[in-house]
Amino acid sequence: MEAMANVKERVRMERLSKVYPNGTVAVQDVNLSIREGEFLSFVGPSGCGKSTIFKMITGLSGATGGKLEVMGTSPKQARKQSDTAFVFQDHTLLPWSSVLDNVALPLALRGVSRQERTREAERAIELVGLKEHARSMPRQLSGGMKMRASIARALVSRPKLLLMDEPFGALDEITRQTLQLELLDIWSRDREMTVLFVTHNVFEAVFLSTRIAVMTPRPGKVASLIDVPVPFPRDDSFRSAPEFGRIVRSVSDALKH
Ligand code: ADP
Repeated sequence: MEAMANVKERVRMERLSKVYPNGTVAVQDVNLSIREGEFLSFVGPSGCGKSTIFKMITGLSGATGGKLEVMGTSPKQARKQSDTAFVFQDHTLLPWSSVLDNVALPLALRGVSRQERTREAERAIELVGLKEHARSMPRQLSGGMKMRASIARALVSRPKLLLMDEPFGALDEITRQTLQLELLDIWSRDREMTVLFVTHNVFEAVFLSTRIAVMTPRPGKVASLIDVPVPFPRDDSFRSAPEFGRIVRSVSDALKH
């Protein structure tokens, strides 16, 4: 009971809406409360407003209606406090900097001392299993390793909210499944971290998430919220469990409506 009472709300959307200046209703009346330690995936076809919601959460784009709170404050304030971090599908590493310097970059931009940022970058690099490659240049890394480096760069500032927009979309299936397991392992070490994850892939969403928001386009709305009541740690055997198939089916059905 006590643990329940202490669970903090990380993101609160109340009738959140976004209409672009050209009249496109990208997001309409989304109500969602996301708690500390959740792994929530947004699933839906292109154009249903997933990126727009992420841009609003990071404070890059303002809402045109409703209310949005991040870490109990405004999205811009949460970003200033470095409470949120972002991982994109494109790894966006600087080609002329080593893995270590790339991962340390967010701290360098905040004026953290060299000694401290090296220590923190080494910690993040170890978390993603790239210790042997800390001095490598991005061009020397495989696609999966570049994505690990991007994740390390997001983790370096110890975010309370990690936003991932189709991070594994460009990877082959085997690498993708390996990185899914690694991501769950990283998250299990810091269960106060909330992860918001965008994917088109229903299997990926079910494997990773505690909850799935199924979205529909024009206008972008959350059509249903589906719980994945399967405990962690999860391993590959979950992918072939009857429960997995059942939840995949209910997400797929919700997507069709
Ligand atoms: P998703 O990430 O789910 O693919 P987006 O959030 O990118 O969806 O887009 C939602 C809708 O808003 C789409 O119809 C898209 O064309 C439109 N849209 C996105 N950005 C802009 C913009 N800057 N101006 C006008 N319309 C936009």
